[in-house]
Amino acid sequence: MARGKEVTGQCRLCGFVRPLTKEHIPPQSALVSRNLRLWVYRGDAALDGGPAKQYQGGFSERVLCEECNNFCGREYVNDFADWSRWGIRMLRRTSRPPDTLHAENIRPLRVIKQIVAMMLASSPAYFGEAHPELRRFVLAIDARGLSPRYRVYTYFSPGLTGRSTGPTKVWEHDSLLAQSVEIAQPPFGYVLLFDGLIRDRRPTEITWFARCAADETRDITMPLAALPVLEAFPLDWRNQREMRTTVLENLYTEAGHPQPREAAEAYVATEERG
Ligand SMILES: [Zn+2]
Repeated sequence: MARGKEVTGQCRLCGFVRPLTKEHIPPQSALVSRNLRLWVYRGDAALDGGPAKQYQGGFSERVLCEECNNFCGREYVNDFADWSRWGIRMLRRTSRPPDTLHAENIRPLRVIKQIVAMMLASSPAYFGEAHPELRRFVLAIDARGLSPRYRVYTYFSPGLTGRSTGPTKVWEHDSLLAQSVEIAQPPFGYVLLFDGLIRDRRPTEITWFARCAADETRDITMPLAALPVLEAFPLDWRNQREMRTTVLENLYTEAGHPQPREAAEAYVATEERG
């Protein structure tokens, strides 16, 4: 347990038990603003009905040893911050959410290594133990490519709520679709998906970043959706209206309504007409 400022534990990246240093997820240099007051829904606590926690300037935790913290800071964080600034620029440019990302002079391999580092850092240590390939991918600067079981996606996350889900299973009815780790804070949300597929086609896959050479630079233009993050649930990008409709649909279902979805949609439409 923490005594004063000293915490010893298993580093999420190298796996050694060492004194842990504070890691900002994402790095502070990649934030829209250090003054940003952000509500972040954290994994199990939020799913069990716990409140979102408010963080100023992104959230941070003692999860990496000093060596790993410095390593990411030296090798990846500047590239990740450059990448993030293009997203911030796009979000600020228009009053409407953007649907395209344009970014110049990006080193994709370093960006995706920082994303995978954040996925490991925001998950319990057992996750890194179970996925040694991800640890090696981050810790070896020149390592390229990920096994086909892993996919990485991104999207614009424009709001003032974010989430950090830790490792979760994605179910549809009774079948396991995939497993995922998700982090969302403006300007971007990220999904690490493994052992499956997701049905939602809105996030843009960037797994190809992992196949670039370490110092390869690219100008990138790609479609990128702005998705609302209003809940703790992984891969849940419903807006307020869709969430209200789902709540009503559940109520109609419980009451034995023969067409609960249609009834809920009709009710929400009535509410909107006032
Ligand atoms: Zn370490």
